[in-house]
Amino acid sequence: MKAARLHQYGKPLQVDEINIPKAKGESVLVRVGGAGVCHSDLHFMKGEWQKILDVKLPLTVGHETAGHVEEMGELVQGFSKGDPVAIFGGWGCGICQNCKDGQEQLCNSPRWPGLSRYDGGYSEYILVPSYRFLVKAQGLNPKDIAPLTDAGLTPYRAVKKVRNLLNPDSFVLITGIGGLGSYAIQYFKLLSPASVITIVRNKKKANLAKEMGADHIINTSEDDVTRQINEITNSNGVDVALDIVCAKDTLSTSVNSLKKRGTLILVGLMGRTLEMPIMQSVMNEYNVSGSLWGNYNELNEVISLARLGKIKSSNEFFSLKDVGKAMEKLESGNIAGRAVLIP
Ligand SMILES: [Zn+2]
Ligand SMILES: [Zn+2]
Repeated sequence: MKAARLHQYGKPLQVDEINIPKAKGESVLVRVGGAGVCHSDLHFMKGEWQKILDVKLPLTVGHETAGHVEEMGELVQGFSKGDPVAIFGGWGCGICQNCKDGQEQLCNSPRWPGLSRYDGGYSEYILVPSYRFLVKAQGLNPKDIAPLTDAGLTPYRAVKKVRNLLNPDSFVLITGIGGLGSYAIQYFKLLSPASVITIVRNKKKANLAKEMGADHIINTSEDDVTRQINEITNSNGVDVALDIVCAKDTLSTSVNSLKKRGTLILVGLMGRTLEMPIMQSVMNEYNVSGSLWGNYNELNEVISLARLGKIKSSNEFFSLKDVGKAMEKLESGNIAGRAVLIP
């Protein structure tokens, strides 16, 4: 089978011909229908996470995968050959406290596909170590829903953390309208009565934000961001800032946009540190929370929303051999939504 693999940090992926793995015991071989291309893959490929991940190269990249069940080990229950499935990627040890609490993506010894010793989804087939990581996606096409397993899941968890803080007079600010942001807008509109303000960096992303239901769109190439936020919120600031980029400049905008008792949710991984002015943070009682990926049940809920036709996706498809092209386009900010590889 063909698989896009990383042989050396800092080098492009190589499309190799490798053996199709065999399903045994609890494991399931899934024929990949689509594999989302995530910013995390770029960080990983550059070697930025060498010290924190237990990886052995070469490795097939990709942690955002959906497909059809191809072959099952003898202990698999509840699935049949041909079932469309979304693959929950937060594979954990299954027995640490976080795993047992149902927060397996926060496992103390994670084994995420494409980011650990387990091969990921940039491939014709992926071996999933247990059927416990599969979510049934009846009636849905794997190539369309692959991004839901990360781009669609991560903002869902983040929005669920804060939705009880929001009322009809509330404002939320979303910085970063790419794969994740386009879903974040929709979740806030579905799960809360708040008005959604988005910050975008070009016309293409402004159009995407509009299509996904944003109430106010601020284009950094045309508008004065602070002045616009003050105007929209009547100088009160926003109740929640969801920073999907977390670069130095977006974090500064997010922090300075918060109203009293406002909450900042960190999702992006671009920057290194968060700087918060002490006086302002204490006097205004700011809250800060990180939010990582999503758990199995949350992925199930996201797939249900897709099945009910309540969320839209903006996907751009590439063949596996064009993986380099997809990554280049993502890195230069020219994918409006998610790039998806079709093996
Ligand atoms: Zn990701
Ligand atoms: Zn664990």
